[in-house]
Amino acid sequence: MIIQPKVRGFVCITAHPEGCAAHIDEQIAHVRAGGPIKDGPKKVLVIGASTGYGLATRIATAFGAGAATLGVFFERPSSNGKPASAGWYNTVAFEKKAHAEGLYAKSLNGDAFSPEMKESVVDLIRRDLGQVDLVVYSLASPRRTDPATGEVHKSVLKPIGAPYKSKNLDTDKKRVLPVEIGPAEEAEIASTVKVMGGEDWLLWMEALEGAGLLAEGCSSMAYDYIGPELTWPVYTNGTIGAAKKHLRETAAKIDAMLKVRRGRAFVSVNKAVVTQASSAIPVVPLYISLLFKVMKEKGLHEDCIQQIDRLLRTQMYNDGALNFDDLGRVRIDDWEMREDVQAAVAAIWPEVETGNIDELTDFAGYQENFLKLFGFGLPNVNYDRETEPEVDIPSLAEISSA
Ligand code: NAD
Repeated sequence: MIIQPKVRGFVCITAHPEGCAAHIDEQIAHVRAGGPIKDGPKKVLVIGASTGYGLATRIATAFGAGAATLGVFFERPSSNGKPASAGWYNTVAFEKKAHAEGLYAKSLNGDAFSPEMKESVVDLIRRDLGQVDLVVYSLASPRRTDPATGEVHKSVLKPIGAPYKSKNLDTDKKRVLPVEIGPAEEAEIASTVKVMGGEDWLLWMEALEGAGLLAEGCSSMAYDYIGPELTWPVYTNGTIGAAKKHLRETAAKIDAMLKVRRGRAFVSVNKAVVTQASSAIPVVPLYISLLFKVMKEKGLHEDCIQQIDRLLRTQMYNDGALNFDDLGRVRIDDWEMREDVQAAVAAIWPEVETGNIDELTDFAGYQENFLKLFGFGLPNVNYDRETEPEVDIPSLAEISSA
């Protein structure tokens, strides 16, 4: 079939297999250009491995450090002639490239929050890898079924305590519109913490530790975001910020667990990038469009792969030292948060309106990046040609039933 982008609001409901493969190739090329990562991880579990920051981590550890990788994600295969989701095609391409290099790469598609998934991963690591020396927790999910109670929790993106007024970019219609978001109820805050906080990360680490699968010196990390003051009411000080605070507190618990074997756990604060998760956050797409313009002009632009590659090379491995802030977070959002960058964004922010989007922001860059997430707009891919939507992930492992 011929696959073209079909954008509905802030998602694209189609994805292109060859385009996603070309996007994977670009990311691999970036990592390869930096040469091998000295003393990098050898056996890596990435939870949330099919798109965004988790995918970039899988690519960087495999192609930078030659690591065996196990990837967990929740993606949709092709059915009834409809294309699969982008993360499915990303994984097909990633595994093929990894296998061609002789690298171990297996994947599990299903709910990472479930006990069945954890058991399946434990079995697979025990059988194939023995132990892991890096566990990366990079989930972004709208809901979670609590394994203890069966209750379904939904995460919301709302301010806490007071309504938040700002402006928003309707990326579909290319319009800047006022937005007002009412404050979250207590139950919504608690639910968001249940979904995006650290509870599930800890369950994963306890399951791995309990089975003796964490190697000497094992590290674990999850990802956090801070961003500019103008998004703090809806992000850092909002429901998702409450969840991230819980994630940080959990990092301290996991760190204590790993210290016994000379390992460590932490959250890394990453920069704002276009991903399926970030395009759904109110206000953030407008901020990212502005940020892209400023950072590109200053020669500081980075996407997921550049961020993770820099994190691994300059801080985690290669004799690098982790750059902790006063809240114990590792910072790789240093370029985004540079004073001159934030001042430039803050100066333009009040001026942006529908009529000057192209002049004042890099909306074209935002859109290009967004479409790329789904494998569209890549050079050397012929989008008018017939393509086969039904492709298998080469090493998709079975998930055991409870
Ligand atoms: P993303 O949407 O690109 O990726 C989410 C991943 O989670 C995918 O692999 C998806 O398949 C997987 N997933 C979701 N629900 C799942 C489930 N129930 N079971 C198994 N897998 C599931 O998101 P992202 O933007 O890369 O976010 C990853 C992390 O990075 C989040 O913690 C996010 O807050 C953080 N972060 C993002 C940004 C940003 O600008 N995008 C910035 C800093 C930090």
